[in-house]
Amino acid sequence: MNPKERGLRYNDSHLVNRANVFEALSFDSPATIKQVARSTRLSTPTVTKALTQLEGIGLVTEKGRKDQPKGRKPTLYGLSEGYYWLGVDLEIPDLRIAVYDLSKRLIKSKKDFVCIDGQIDDVAKYLPDSVIGKVKGFLKEQDISAGSVLGAGVGVPGMVRDGSFKPFSRLKNPPSIPLMGPMEERLTIPAVIGNDVDLELLAELDRRNLLEEPGVVAVYLAARPSKAAHSAVRIGGSVFHNGGVLQGAMGSANEFGHTSVSRSDHEELKCNCGNPKCLETYVNEKISSAPTGKVPDEVTEVLTDKLKDLIFLYNPSLVIVDLLAFPQLSNPVIGEINKFIQLRHDHMHFDGPEVVTPGDSEMACARGACIKSFRNLAANPEKYSILSSDS
Ligand SMILES: [Zn+2]
Repeated sequence: MNPKERGLRYNDSHLVNRANVFEALSFDSPATIKQVARSTRLSTPTVTKALTQLEGIGLVTEKGRKDQPKGRKPTLYGLSEGYYWLGVDLEIPDLRIAVYDLSKRLIKSKKDFVCIDGQIDDVAKYLPDSVIGKVKGFLKEQDISAGSVLGAGVGVPGMVRDGSFKPFSRLKNPPSIPLMGPMEERLTIPAVIGNDVDLELLAELDRRNLLEEPGVVAVYLAARPSKAAHSAVRIGGSVFHNGGVLQGAMGSANEFGHTSVSRSDHEELKCNCGNPKCLETYVNEKISSAPTGKVPDEVTEVLTDKLKDLIFLYNPSLVIVDLLAFPQLSNPVIGEINKFIQLRHDHMHFDGPEVVTPGDSEMACARGACIKSFRNLAANPEKYSILSSDS
């Protein structure tokens, strides 16, 4: 979606054109001026001008000529090498740092950790300091200068609002931890932060080439092993519609793990969310009282029920079921959901949704963070000084 369709306005139309042409090339390149004009719906003189400017800045290079049977062979344009996006997955204590090229291909990644145990009093300072320190170290190791990184994205476990986040699955009454501001200030690049599951959904949609498709509504349900002291499984979710992730008024929408399960065998409040009957509490209770390695049938049931509710709530075109905490449940749950989808079709004549598992779990959050950062350039080109520099 281009910035104009998002309803944004800019004084500098050249900047918007450059951002649009840059975005088009990162989805499909090398491409000719005509092809870029078609995908951006800009005129060929406008595209030509934007390409010349992007070439002058160094973000775009000529990639030979297009082979065609007759006439002059048109020049192909593509994105330059030597510029990067940065994606960070802050899982606490695990930390993954990755750099991607301008076409969002993974160049290098590193696994590290940031332990916050014993730092509870000063976590709002300690955490950003550690993450920024690790990122700087990584870039230095890779011999990547800060000036060649266009933007950074960070995925965090918790509620995100105004560039800060609350890791409430890790801490009781967590402070709001500012991360975007310190990253931008100390790495001197535009930064975005997002909820980890939201970013994994973006990565999965990008992998399926659905990110720019109109009319895509996707629901993501994740149950992941957790390293938090009070729970073995973390349940999260995300919804994509209208070209973006549904955020809610406070940035905490789609916390499916804390929605209710109506079960009589629930006890007192154990989760930090405030809902004594939440799904995550219920699943963790059931797991902890079962023999090791055995997943009680009730867990399969509540996860299947939750997915049915989500299908009615959002009427999605795609459902992504990510049960890394219980890989053995994936097929039975998807089988039940498909039976339900068939029944719903028989009774209500609704088609779909397609139900799938994600392709990559290890790097999905870091990759989603890179994609969010990339989409931020297209939505807010004025934040990227390189785009406005004179060629
Ligand atoms: Zn809860």
